[in-house]
Formats: sequence, structure tokens, C-alpha cells
Amino acid sequence: MSATSPKNRENLLNLTPAAAESRLREFFTQGGLPVYRAKQILRRLWVNPAADFEAVTELPKSLRAQLALAFELPRLSIAARQRSADGTEKFLFILGDGQAIESVAIPEGDRLTLCISSQAGCALQCAFCATGAMGFQRNLEVFEIAGQVREMRLLDPPLQITNVVFMGMGEPLMNWRAVNDALTLLNDPLGLGLGARHITVSTVGVLPGIVALGERPEQFRLAISIHAPSDSLRRELMPVNVKYPLSDVIEAAKQFDRRVTFEYVMLGGVNDATEHAIRLAELARECRAFVNLIPLHPGGARGFVPTPATRIRDFAHELRRHGVEVAIRKSRGVDIAAACGQLRVERLGRRPPRGPNEHGDVQVA
Ligand code: SAH
Repeated sequence: MSATSPKNRENLLNLTPAAAESRLREFFTQGGLPVYRAKQILRRLWVNPAADFEAVTELPKSLRAQLALAFELPRLSIAARQRSADGTEKFLFILGDGQAIESVAIPEGDRLTLCISSQAGCALQCAFCATGAMGFQRNLEVFEIAGQVREMRLLDPPLQITNVVFMGMGEPLMNWRAVNDALTLLNDPLGLGLGARHITVSTVGVLPGIVALGERPEQFRLAISIHAPSDSLRRELMPVNVKYPLSDVIEAAKQFDRRVTFEYVMLGGVNDATEHAIRLAELARECRAFVNLIPLHPGGARGFVPTPATRIRDFAHELRRHGVEVAIRKSRGVDIAAACGQLRVERLGRRPPRGPNEHGDVQVA
């Protein structure tokens, strides 16, 4: 396909289904071709994705060639695929310009959740996060965000993703334009068709983005990375707290008209004391938020130690005692460093200092 294709082909995967359909209709009308073909092709973008136009065998060969001249269906190439003992699988994608991003597929009962990236790198520099350590590279485009799920459908055998969380690399609400359309693609029945309540956007608390997400009519879920119940501690862990202070983030969570989840990574001796739990409970009650306690993934968390499991349980108990619903997130894929930019960090050799019980050698797929 690439041998015959000029550089200025239009990327159909950067368009929402409605926009792609009207673009295709226009193309067929102008070419004097049967317009019903537009719908046929539309289904091969996301619903039952085709690797390229050549694979759309329900179309005549000449039409496939014409489409390939006008449009492109760019792939994300899988540079590494690792499987954890617990079934978690991690994918390293290389993008057109050589940037690397990660996705992690996490099986849980009937669900298969894909944790996707929204940026290459991240500007936010949270103290315990491996992605922050690599700095910001660039925003992902729409097709690169939704494409992470599309690629799972193109595997042989395909992985049927049921849920998506924006908890890979990057801050989704700092790339709202692309994330906004990617959400449409993920949810639209003529896109990837995932229920809005199965799609969670996780943010450090980018206020305009929270408002924009709240204005969408679909029931997309919002998770906010709180990680500290006071401004002074939060500022130390998350420099973004200077721009978006905790009190404003809490206010935004209150205004959000759907249920919000607070994420709280447990940092040994830092944010895991009983008084932190009590203060966190107050904040969560104010927003009627559900709290997810996240055991620290050791990779990338320079200078931090995980809170012991018994202490996490006590912390959860304290929150419950104060009327807050809480879950302790299971640590998944620890043996493949399945968190927060760690695969990319290893591959690019910018690894942070490693703790004694880390594994995670990458096998190139
Ligand atoms: N920028 C967004 C989404 C990406 S991070 C956000 O911050 O919410 C997804 C979640 O993983 C966040 O809650 C983040 O704080 C958490 N996280 C980052 N590094 C971690 C680590 N080393 N161990 C456990 N969780 C981590």
C-alpha cells in the first residue's frame, strides 16, 4: 500500500464516525461511486477494523486501490508485548515519529480493561511517577489514543476490551481536544462501542478539562488523583497543585454531576497516617467520592517506599469508619513493571534507580 500512496492522504482514523462517514460520502459522490459503500467502509475503521484497505475484501479491488490513494488507516506498531504471571499484558507502541507509548490490558473477571496513554511523556512531574521523570514529549492525536484499543482488535487472536481507563502515560485533560474526540470514538456504536460508564478519565485535577468532561452528555467516569489531603503535602508530591490547588479540585469534583473516584497512591510514611485518612474522608464525603487506594508501584518512584499491606487495610478501615466507600486496588503486573511509563523508560534506557524486588526485562515482540 505505501508504495503507491502519496504523503498527503487523509487520515480517516483521526475523525469521529460521523465526520468519517460524511467525508467518505463526499468522496463517493464526487467520484460517481455508490454512496452506500461509505457505511461499509465505516464499519471497517473501528467496529471490525481492517489492517489496511487491501483487507476490506468486501469491496472491489479497484475501489480498495482508489481508497488507499486518498486515505490512510495508520497503525500503531507494537514494539514489545509482555505478559505478567497474573495475566496482565503490557504493550509498547512506536508511533509514526518514533515516540513510544504504553498500554496495559488488565483482565478481571468478565472484564478486560485497557489502560491507555493520552500523551507521550508527561509535563506534570508527580514525584512518584515514572512518566513524569521522562518529561513531556507531545500530545497524542485522536487516532493514536483510540488506536490503542483498535490495535487490540487487530491482534490474532483479538483482545476484546470491555473497559478503558486513561491511566497510562500523560494527562488526558491537558490534551482535551484529542481526548474529547477519542471519547466519542471509544463510545460511539460506529466507533469502538464501549459503554460510557466503562470509560474512565483520570486527571490530576485540570479544572477546565473537568468542566468540559462534565458537559458531555454521556456518563463518562471521572477519577481524580488526590494523593494528599492537604495543599502543603500535595504540592510536594504533585507540582501541579500550585496551579490547581486541592480546594479548587474538590470544588470541581462537587460540581461534577456524576460520581467521582478519588485515587490515592499509598506512600509509606508520607501520606498514610491516620490523620491523613481522617482528612481524606472529609474531602471524599464533601464530594460523595469513592476512594481507590493504590499500592505504590515501586518502579519510577524514586525515594518512596510502598505502604505495608496491613497499614493500607487500616487506612481503608479508617475511611470506612468515616462513612466513605473505599476499595484497595490490586497491584497488577508488578513483574512486568506495568505502570506509568516504566516499559518505555526501560526501553529507552532512561530508567530511574531500581528497587531490590523489581523485575521487568522487556522481550521484544
Ligand atoms: N495524569 C493522570 C493519568 C495518568 S496516571 C493522573 O495523574 O490521574 C494514572 C494513575 O496512576 C494516577 O492516579 C497516578 O497518580 C498513578 N501513579 C503514578 N505513578 C504511580 C506509581 N508509581 N504507583 C502507583 N500509582 C501511580
